[in-house]
Order: sequence, then structure tokens, then C-alpha cells
Amino acid sequence: MMCTPKRQTSKSRRGNRSGSLRAIALVIVLLVSGIIACKRPAVHSVGRPLIGTLVTLTVLAESHEKAIIASEAAFSEIARIEALMSPVIGGSDIARINKSASGASVIISPETFALISQSKEIWRETGGAFDITFASMSGLWNFSRVPFVPPGPALLNSMKHLVNMANVELDGKKKTVSLKKPGMKTGLGAIAKGYAIRRAMEVLRRYGIENAMVDAGGDLQVIGSKNGEVWMAGLIHPRTKRIIIGIKMRDGEAVATSGDYERYAMYRGVRYHHIIDPSTGEPARHFASVSVIGRDPVEADAFATAIFVMGMEKARELLARRSGLSAILIDADMKVWASRRLAEDLVVLGDVEITWF
Ligand code: FAD
Ligand code: MG
Repeated sequence: MMCTPKRQTSKSRRGNRSGSLRAIALVIVLLVSGIIACKRPAVHSVGRPLIGTLVTLTVLAESHEKAIIASEAAFSEIARIEALMSPVIGGSDIARINKSASGASVIISPETFALISQSKEIWRETGGAFDITFASMSGLWNFSRVPFVPPGPALLNSMKHLVNMANVELDGKKKTVSLKKPGMKTGLGAIAKGYAIRRAMEVLRRYGIENAMVDAGGDLQVIGSKNGEVWMAGLIHPRTKRIIIGIKMRDGEAVATSGDYERYAMYRGVRYHHIIDPSTGEPARHFASVSVIGRDPVEADAFATAIFVMGMEKARELLARRSGLSAILIDADMKVWASRRLAEDLVVLGDVEITWF
């Protein structure tokens, strides 16, 4: 953007020395004010614990005040979504669904209803790999229990039948959800974080912010640029925890990562983590990390979890069908794979070899 000081005229036409000095002083003042007017927007960054993670908003704004007002509004929006969709806040839509008697219809907010409906579509599209009724078994996987002991096969088998989205009945007119089997539960942990990011970014835009990053525990979306420089997201190695790849993020793009290294526990040398394969009730074993890049943070979030469960072959079929999504996959042997579409956008920072697909 070109930026020049506004031209102003002096009423004085006298050609004496003091007049010239005044004119010079005026020119200097105008130049300085022009420079101030041209000053690049400052980068304001503020973090807050929300939805079980650290949410960091980075916005570019001409004034600190504008940045704070916009960021506060975005944080309030995330808090509002948390109150609707949290698994732990009593009275949230999800808590009410999970407490309901089997077969009972629970009226929920149109927003939660829309996200559960989208979850059902993704469940269909991923052949059941993405299933919000995983939560029926999540009580078996308490990674913070010391000592951690994984549930045995008998217990897993006795509860596996509860994980099946087919048994979640949705009524679009009444906005009701009904769980068909006693003991069933739902959880939006793999999709609502993306929704919170999307809504927070919409709020920032509404407050006139054109350049920003919304980061919820590493899942993020950007708009615009960082004073002309492309936004970068860092991909962490699942074991060394070092950033190994930088991802250049274009205007409006989102990235979400599902990994086996944040919420997990070790038992007899085996890693047990929070991404559950609905067909077994146990942690999925194909990948250590899956990052999905696309324009919608909700899809990026949900498909990162789905692909983690689906494994390489089905993941590649899905990504071939969905041209708006790209992925970086780190398999169980720590081999790194990436969509060819990302060839221009990845900056390798560590000792990493990428196999393109
Ligand atoms: P992702 O890979 O994005 O998702 C993994 C999560 O998805 C699992 O933890 C599980 O919840 C779910 N999941 C597992 N398998 C499947 C499957 N096959 N299909 C579908 N879903 C699956 N955490 C807290 O500790 N305290 C809180 O107060 C808290 N509040 C939250 C409120 C909200 C509204 C949300 C959305 C999450 C909250 N969380 C809370 C959860 C927390 O932030 C999770 O870590 C996060 O949602 C999971 O994101 P992820 O990126 O770690 O993993
Ligand atoms: Mg996710």
C-alpha cells in the first residue's frame, strides 16, 4: 500500500526568513505526521485458558485499544461456545444429552445441533472412523490416573456396542437429539475446537480486524498477513517435540493437528492416547501425528482426527476426493508424508525427509 503525507497549504504568502523557517518546520511536522500515519499496525498477542487449552489471539491493529476490544469479544465468543458444548460444564448441551435417559429427546441449541449433524455426515463419509459416540468409552481411558492401566479386552468388548453414531437420532425441525442405547454418550472434542476457532475469527473480522491468527492449542486459522509477511505455523515432531516443518499459511487457511503425544499414558512400554478407533475401542495405531490444512477450521479439526483413525490408504482416498484439504502425516515409524499440493508451502526446518503423495 502506498502511503504519502496529505498535502496541506499555508495561508502565509510572505517570503521573509521567519516565514521560510515556519514553512520548513511545517514541512517537517507534516513529514513526521505522515510517517506516523504510515506506521505499520502493531502486533498484539494475548492468551487465555479456554476449552481445555490455551487460546492465543494475535491481531494487527492500529491501536492497542482496538486490538483489546476485538480480542475480548472473540474470547467471549469462545467462552459462549464452551458453555454450550463442553463435556464437563453441567447444563451444556452435551452434558444434558449425556445425562438423558436412552430414547429421550433433548432439545439443544441450533448451533450444537448443526455441529452434531455435521459430525454425523463426517461419520458417514469416513466409514465410521469419526464418531462422536466414542465418548461412551472415554471413561475407560483416564490417562491422568496413576498408575495408568489400560482396560482389558472383556471390558472393551462389553462397551464397544455403545459407540455407533447410527444410534444417535436427530430431529432437524425440533432440534432434538436422542441416544438410542442406555449408557451412550457423545463428545465434540474432535470438532468443537475448530468451531470455536471459526467463530472467534468471524468476531475479529466483525470488529474490523483484517490480519490475525486464532490459535487454540496449536490448531489455528489466519487471515491476511503479518505486516506483509506470510503467517507461519510450526509442525512439532511427535517425539522430540521440536518444530520440524514450517507451514506457510495463506489468507483464510486453517490447520489442525491430531497427535498421540499430548494426552497419553505409557503402560509396559506401549503408548495409549486419546484418539479412539471406534471399531476396537482402543487408541488408533496408524499415525503419530496428522495435520490437515484447509479453509474451514471445523473440517480441518474433524478430518485430522478421522484420518488419524482411518490409516494411510483410506486417508489418501479421502484426500484425493476432497481437493480443498491437504495433509501432513507422520506414521508410526516417524516417516513424514505430505500432500503434493503443499509442496510450495512447507519449509523443512529439521532433519526431515518428506514423501509426497
Ligand atoms: P483432536 O485430535 O482434535 O481430538 C481428539 C479428541 O477427539 C479426543 O480427546 C476425544 O475427545 C475425541 N475423539 C477421540 N476419538 C474420536 C473419534 N474416533 N471420533 C470423534 N472424536 C474422537 N479438556 C479439559 O481437559 N478440560 C476442559 O475443561 C475441556 N473443555 C472443553 C470444552 C470444549 C467445548 C471442547 C471442544 C473441548 C474441551 N476439552 C477440555 C477438551 C480438550 O481441549 C481436548 O484436548 C480437545 O478438544 C481435543 O483436541 P486435540 O486437538 O487435543 O485432539
Ligand atoms: Mg482436532
